Amino acid sequence: MTVKEIPIESPIEEKITWAENCHRERGADLLRDEEVDFLLRELKGAIRASHMEMAHTGIVESCRLCEEKDGGSCCGAGLENRYTGLLLLINLLLGHLIPGRRQDPLGCFFLGKEGCGLLSRQVICINYLCKKVTDQINPHKIAPLREKEGLELDLLFHLNERIKKVLATTKAPE
Ligand code: SF4
Ligand code: SF4
Repeated sequence: MTVKEIPIESPIEEKITWAENCHRERGADLLRDEEVDFLLRELKGAIRASHMEMAHTGIVESCRLCEEKDGGSCCGAGLENRYTGLLLLINLLLGHLIPGRRQDPLGCFFLGKEGCGLLSRQVICINYLCKKVTDQINPHKIAPLREKEGLELDLLFHLNERIKKVLATTKAPE
């Protein structure tokens, strides 16, 4: 059985269900693919490196204070619609559970009390920096962060393409 991608304009709940079903039906098959397996491991490392660099620049602390004092403002409702079913599937393949319901009516579906509830995120969520942050952070610290985010996005692109190829083939016998 091949798997057809869910359209980007589908409601987020349907995209989550698609990703969960796809993970159940084809997850083992995908993880057996050497390229998918390699890219997932590389992506996990790249995400960790981006997070560490964000902490190093002071952005994590700035955002924490902003959320505490001003309620944050950059993860608004509707941003979840930029997510594809495939990117949600990638979160599941990384062993990361997807939030099942919106916690803040004004916030993105994936926004939780501890911040973003996804591990692998799309480009805007990866490299968005508000003016508050760019005014506070030394510009010299931004370049190494951009480099790490670039690697994360590159791996994500290749993983996405590989997963599409595997899903377009018939399920391998167990
Ligand atoms: S990116 Fe800017 S608006 Fe968003 S939480 Fe951080 S400091 Fe606040
Ligand atoms: S960073 Fe996470 S919570 Fe914020 S908009 Fe992106 S997916 Fe939503």
